[in-house]
Amino acid sequence: MKVKRTVEFVKRPENLFLLLGKDIEATRMFQDELQDKVRPFIDLIDDMRYLGIEEEMPLPTIVVVGDQSSGKSSVLEALSGVSLPRGTGIVTRCPLLLKLCKDSSRAWRAVLSYSDKVIEFDEPEEINDYVQEAQDALAGEGDGISDELITLKITSSVVCDLTLIDLPGIARVAMPGQPENIGEQTKNLIHKHIKKEETIILVVVPCNVDIATTEALKMAQQVDPEGTRTLAILTKPDLIDPGAEKNILDIVHNRTIPLNLGYVIVKCRGQKQIDEDMSISDAIEDEKKFFERHKYFSSLQDKITIKHLSTKLTKSLVDHIKKSLPRMSEKVKSQLGEVRSNLNKLKPGPPEDLAEMRKQLSLVITEFNEKITQLSKGDITVQGNLFVLMRTEFQDWMECLKKSKSNYHEAVKNVVDEYDDNHRGNELPGFNNYRVFQNVVQNLLNTLKDPAIMTLQTVKDMVQKQFDHLSKDTFKDYPFLQHFSKRSIYDIQDQQSKIAMERIMQQFEMEKLVYTQDEIFNVKNGLPGETTAYTEQDKRDKYPELLTAYYEIVVQRLADQVPMLIQYFILKEATKIVCTEMLSLLYSNDTERILQEDPHIETYRTKLHCQLDRLQLANEKLSNL
Ligand code: GDP
Ligand code: MG
Repeated sequence: MKVKRTVEFVKRPENLFLLLGKDIEATRMFQDELQDKVRPFIDLIDDMRYLGIEEEMPLPTIVVVGDQSSGKSSVLEALSGVSLPRGTGIVTRCPLLLKLCKDSSRAWRAVLSYSDKVIEFDEPEEINDYVQEAQDALAGEGDGISDELITLKITSSVVCDLTLIDLPGIARVAMPGQPENIGEQTKNLIHKHIKKEETIILVVVPCNVDIATTEALKMAQQVDPEGTRTLAILTKPDLIDPGAEKNILDIVHNRTIPLNLGYVIVKCRGQKQIDEDMSISDAIEDEKKFFERHKYFSSLQDKITIKHLSTKLTKSLVDHIKKSLPRMSEKVKSQLGEVRSNLNKLKPGPPEDLAEMRKQLSLVITEFNEKITQLSKGDITVQGNLFVLMRTEFQDWMECLKKSKSNYHEAVKNVVDEYDDNHRGNELPGFNNYRVFQNVVQNLLNTLKDPAIMTLQTVKDMVQKQFDHLSKDTFKDYPFLQHFSKRSIYDIQDQQSKIAMERIMQQFEMEKLVYTQDEIFNVKNGLPGETTAYTEQDKRDKYPELLTAYYEIVVQRLADQVPMLIQYFILKEATKIVCTEMLSLLYSNDTERILQEDPHIETYRTKLHCQLDRLQLANEKLSNL
């Protein structure tokens, strides 16, 4: 915070009246009257801007545009009574919101604010330096430009109530060290502001150039072809080529480029007068004399001087605000409705209180555990019936087993047919080596391992997907729980499928024993007892039939056993373990983190609440006007 205390009497703007005599005294009375009528409207818009309502809707504003060196800063200085940064190249590098408040009851005062900085002044000197510092902070040192607003509020007895935004001047050619496209950048920034219907465009044009060719006026004409919201200021009337005054008169009388809000000629300090340190107040006196003596312009009345300009601007702004009020009010109400309904759609965030949080956590976990248990029993379905899906997989497995039967028959037949030629060992002719037939079974079993594992994998993926879906659904407002359950499900399924795989492999190993107590088989065989014991008799021609009967038993065993192992480990056991894992969270000390909602939702909710607050305030202000 900076407070300037040394005040030089003459330079204090409120002393202007003493210096400028009666004419200004009369203006002051007129303005005091005007003040009561205009101030509430201008304040309303400034308050709305301060609230940030511009995020919801554009606000009625005056923006100042002009080519470089057209005299923009000079005009603003004359209006505000404060020296602003000037020089060659782009001097205004950020939009500067100049809020002028007329207040005869208080001492002159200025407040500069940008980002989170607020600097107070009680005299105009040095404001200039601080504006430059603000620009460096926002647009970087050097020659870049930025769209961030710097606000300079000036409270004084001699200013008009007025708020306007000064924009960077339009550069025709980049200065050394400036970005090549600086002209384009400034034009884009200007365009963004002037295209809004709510904006009054204040175009600053020097009298000593061909006004139709000035970039600023061209831009204004593009966005406001009818000239309904454009007001032009003609500067440097002292530099008009003798003889060209009539052209200026044509322009001022709206005969050349007609503008609804018209033209005002003002004369500010020339470079020489600045170099000679002429004060702004002296310059106003100088302007007065200049027009009084002017052969062509002296009779233009309200179309000349800074004083008339400021009155005209205030009036235009207030008219503009009044016109915009019904629409603004409507917009605020409709936006309020929208924000409220968006807030209603959002779930309330997690509770603040720890005990409540615990309760909530236990509720969501119980819900999840119940659902996953129901899912594992087939009581609920998620994205297709899990049991129907699994059954299809298990039927495929069965098909695979059936197919292997025909391969088996073939193999057995070959072994029988070619036994003596290809398989007989040292046993006597007519005797058979039982191992040869055992091998046939074992070889075929080996080819079934891969399909069995495939079935396991497919079902595991299926179950995992459904579990995941359930977790996403149940924990959609709790990213931590979603992540945690997903991770647990993944790990648990991984571990369970390893166990299931081991057990399936064990089953295959056991099948290699080639064993059955099956009664049908024993009846077919004509013997009570076990197949492994059956080696001593040559029944080669009976082998295919016997082995087929045995294979039926193997197929039946595998057809049931593999799906049962998969279901048990991947579904039933896994569900139980997942539930236990989830319950363990109830005993964690980290309930707050566990229940933390999606940061995006949190941000969104905060944003909506901010919007709601400012819209409610805006609504109040609009209704109280
Ligand atoms: P900006 O770049 O548009 O902000 O222009 P400035 O306000 O910095 O003015 C550019 C130059 O024109 C400065 O040297 C001013 O002194 C000069 N200037 C501004 N207004 C007038 C005027 O009415 N008469 C004369 N003679 N010079 C002026
Ligand atoms: Mg300037």
